[in-house]
Amino acid sequence: MSETIPFFNRMGDEERAAWTGALRSVLPGHTIAAPAEMSDEAAAAARVAIVANPDPAEMARFTGLVWVQSVWAGVERMVGTLPERIGIVRLVDPVLGEAMAEGVLTHTLYLHRRVPEYLAFQRQGVWRQLDHPRASRRTVAILGLGELGRACAATLTGQGFKVIGWSRSARSVPGVDCRHGDAALPLVLAEADIVVVLVPLTEATRGLLSARMLSYCKAGAGLINVARGPIVDRTALLAALDSGRIGHAVLDVFDTEPLPADDPFWSHPKVTVMPHVAAITDMESASAIVAANLAAFFADGTVPPTVDAARGY
Ligand code: NAP
Repeated sequence: MSETIPFFNRMGDEERAAWTGALRSVLPGHTIAAPAEMSDEAAAAARVAIVANPDPAEMARFTGLVWVQSVWAGVERMVGTLPERIGIVRLVDPVLGEAMAEGVLTHTLYLHRRVPEYLAFQRQGVWRQLDHPRASRRTVAILGLGELGRACAATLTGQGFKVIGWSRSARSVPGVDCRHGDAALPLVLAEADIVVVLVPLTEATRGLLSARMLSYCKAGAGLINVARGPIVDRTALLAALDSGRIGHAVLDVFDTEPLPADDPFWSHPKVTVMPHVAAITDMESASAIVAANLAAFFADGTVPPTVDAARGY
């Protein structure tokens, strides 16, 4: 049976049109509708919606929603803002994992091969060669062993790095030294040459890399934050960079995005600023995954795994 599926988003016209077109092409038997254009009757009848950072107020008329499918992997802005009865399904896409693994490998090699220092030498016209150990002598800690963290771990171990993974519950990942729980974090940080942040933003992870936690890092350790800005305490990070505790930070995510023009990170010599591009949703593969999830729901009522409201992810 044909269904009308509202697409809640706060995208610009061009991006919205591209997504709507992509979703229509993979859901040909159904209608992808702009929520504002749906009647109250149609709104109340909708059982599932597709969302990208939706405005919860706009969803109030949609009283029959059972679950919403996000086209993005990070859904922390939605958790706690929707009525409890609505399940939140985030995007789980192997293509996104490949993209994140490629991004994290890029930044890991950049730090491992000391490129920030060579860029500084170049600016000064200095010809100087630095040592770097073999990859197998570098330990990379990945905080978060979820869909994206595991993809990164596989790529980094394949590249020869020693990888420690850290998660909330116990995990087993081939080739990865897995640790879990709050008590394990100081030692994980103390053993890592490069720390990759890939936990979701929740009440438990906000400010996780505090001044105290950063103090456990090896002197001169590299930091790569590709998760969410507020997971790393920015004041503590600036202090750790200035003291040399952190040698260089690659930041893809920030407390405020776009990063304000006067933010000290822009000009900090030990910071590489990236505009939230570590893993961008691939519209084609994401649309296909959304379509498959919706098809299963329309066929037999199957709802994909939803975000656990208590855990926050
Ligand atoms: P996921 O599958 O939900 O995995 C989350 C991982 O973090 C799990 O291993 C989880 O532990 C761990 N974790 C959560 N809370 C923790 C805590 N308090 N202590 C220790 N470990 C904790 O998430 P994902 O798909 O890998 O995505 C991770 C994040 O990447 C997203 O939430 C989003 O913020 C970010 N992201 C960034 C970009 C970008 O372009 N920069 C793109 C997409 C996503 P358990 O294994 O025990 O559950």
